[in-house]
Amino acid sequence: MVNLVLLGPPGAGKGTQAERLVRDYGVLHISTGDLLRYAIKAETPLGRKAKAAVDEGRLVPDQVVVALVEERLIDKEPGQGFILDGFPRTVAQAGALEQLLQSMQVPLDHVILFDIPLSLLEERIAKRAEESRAAGAPPRSDDSPEVLKKRVEEFVRATAALSPFYEQNALLRRVDASEDIERVATQIRDFLELKPKPHQRQP
Ligand code: AMP
Repeated sequence: MVNLVLLGPPGAGKGTQAERLVRDYGVLHISTGDLLRYAIKAETPLGRKAKAAVDEGRLVPDQVVVALVEERLIDKEPGQGFILDGFPRTVAQAGALEQLLQSMQVPLDHVILFDIPLSLLEERIAKRAEESRAAGAPPRSDDSPEVLKKRVEEFVRATAALSPFYEQNALLRRVDASEDIERVATQIRDFLELKPKPHQRQP
């Protein structure tokens, strides 16, 4: 069982690596972005509340995303690992996650930060929009250049606060996300083979 947080800007490849981790380790993938997009599409009360923030690339309020994550984590199979993708994004969310995992007596093993020059992101997002067009799906409304800029700014602000938070408890691992998919996957696998120090396993 492995429990991970993936941190990285939009377009860094978190979703692609998460898919592989699901395939290889059978973990539960919890993407707050996906959960919010689903809620918006289904026009649930939560989706209606979150829509404007998501459309504009702003953060949705902490209590909304914390509640979404809590619901999913509590629902997972006993003993199943998880990947949190796009969560936490604020120190308050990281604190709420810590408390939640403590109450579930579940440890967090690694926080993987996808390091990538911001200049590469625009190119990657344009490619993602192109691929979804080719597959007949509309591109994500928040992948437009203006909203992307805002999302990247939000990420830079969030990481500035979150990296020290996780560096402090020795959970933070950096991968070079500018490499190709296979190489990034290998870097992550190498981390997963690291045995967390005994004190880190304590919930
Ligand atoms: P993502 O798919 O992770 O890029 O998320 C898309 C959008 O969903 C973000 O730009 C935010 O508006 C919202 N969102 C996703 N995760 C969070 C979170 N942890 N905290 C606040 N807002 C979030």
